[in-house]
Amino acid sequence: MNQLLNQDLQQLDNFLQEIKDYSVLFLSSVETLPVKAATASFENFDLPRKGMGAMHTLSQFRKRYEEHLAGNSGPRNWGFVTGGATIPAIAGDWLTSVFDMNASDRDIPPFKIETETISMLRQLFGLPDAFSGNFVTGATMANFSGLAIARQWLGKQLGVDVAQEGMAALANAKIVSCTPHSSSVKSMAMLGFGRNALVKIPALPDREAFDIEALKEYLLAHKGEPLIVLASAGTVNTVDFDDLQAIVALKKEYNFWLHVDAAFGAFAACVPEYKQLLDGWEEADSITIDAHKWLNVPYDAAMVFTRHLQLQLDTFKNVGAAYLGDPEKDFKYSNYTPENSRRLRALPAWFTLVAYGAEGYTAIVNNNIQLARQLGTLISESDAFHLLAPVRLCVVCFTLHVADEEKQAGIDAFLKALNDSGKVMMTPTVYQGVPAIRAAFVNWRTTEKDLTIAWEDMLQQAAGPTVEED
Ligand SMILES: *Cc1c(COP(=O)(O)O)cnc(C)c1O
Repeated sequence: MNQLLNQDLQQLDNFLQEIKDYSVLFLSSVETLPVKAATASFENFDLPRKGMGAMHTLSQFRKRYEEHLAGNSGPRNWGFVTGGATIPAIAGDWLTSVFDMNASDRDIPPFKIETETISMLRQLFGLPDAFSGNFVTGATMANFSGLAIARQWLGKQLGVDVAQEGMAALANAKIVSCTPHSSSVKSMAMLGFGRNALVKIPALPDREAFDIEALKEYLLAHKGEPLIVLASAGTVNTVDFDDLQAIVALKKEYNFWLHVDAAFGAFAACVPEYKQLLDGWEEADSITIDAHKWLNVPYDAAMVFTRHLQLQLDTFKNVGAAYLGDPEKDFKYSNYTPENSRRLRALPAWFTLVAYGAEGYTAIVNNNIQLARQLGTLISESDAFHLLAPVRLCVVCFTLHVADEEKQAGIDAFLKALNDSGKVMMTPTVYQGVPAIRAAFVNWRTTEKDLTIAWEDMLQQAAGPTVEED
């Protein structure tokens, strides 16, 4: 054994203690670190000829990167839809690396851990047992998986095994949506549908949800053609929900596959008041739910749920690899997921679900919704900002109260100043043609104190440029 490898093995305890101390140091300061890392330039770093060993590598890492690390998982990262990581979730993630098991095989514990976690998640979301599920790396891959199984189903309607014979029969397949997430369109590109296969149906006035009458018209005009309806349960700008019950009713009349992207909107199921937003999703064919957003586990983790296990197998099975066994007989996750070898991605979720249970998640989700609503109220009562949509769940979509022609430049300057201040982070968007800003609340650590800190900073940055002009 190489001398350094051997030395590190002997000093395992010391080194992991050091890593633990460093982790504690970082996690206890995450609230005060700048939310967004400042851009930095780094000198080249070449592969050392002789390595440094574990302990010096940690020092080298800290020397090189520590001052550039941001509190990305802290309570005031309101950009995109960014979750934090609960303490038990971090522990589960660490242990995933410690065990370093390939979570594919039925005969070993990782399989049980994943099926058990999926079962707890079904309970958390109130999804029927008819749904099977598995972990993937994020909602992008969950959307990819759902649409891949949908593709197999479309082929089957035409008597073609697409996984075997390719896409030729589905050259005219359409994915019908109102406000799809970009990752679904990306998945269409990856799956051979092509981005042009997207058909966008108009939204209801002032909404991001299907005009159901317009959807119905489209379905009627294209009856019998291969169609996937891609519904949103929580859009990123205004957390709008498609009327899933109405879509499910149409599904009985028109034969289509229903995929629901509920990346973070699924967590509405945790709060009785908001649960009904998801009514109907239990009839979907496939569902995407992210774990590294509102479940607050570390990157990267999400789940895809489906009620079509055989089609999923037809899509993802490994064929002709004797050493992997017979995919039809031996259940292995690698025959149901894009990845073959896969880390024990379920373990962080298992830890946090057991640690906090249904009540813990109701509390996290409720707290985030209340804070988003409070920010919405502050904005709607202020002179500096203008609320662009009602706060439906955990995202506040707003703009600056300035003339239309000044909006884009104003927002660019405001967001730069705000994000550079390091206290809070938000991201730009365009909502119904209006340049806008989003603040998304999905972190377990966020409290009213954070709202106060952020609001003061927002007012200050909004006032900033005017003061300078004077
Ligand atoms: C975040 C998000 C995605 C993409 O998820 P990743 O985890 O970034 O891959 C897809 N759909 C919706 C609605 C999302 O919010």
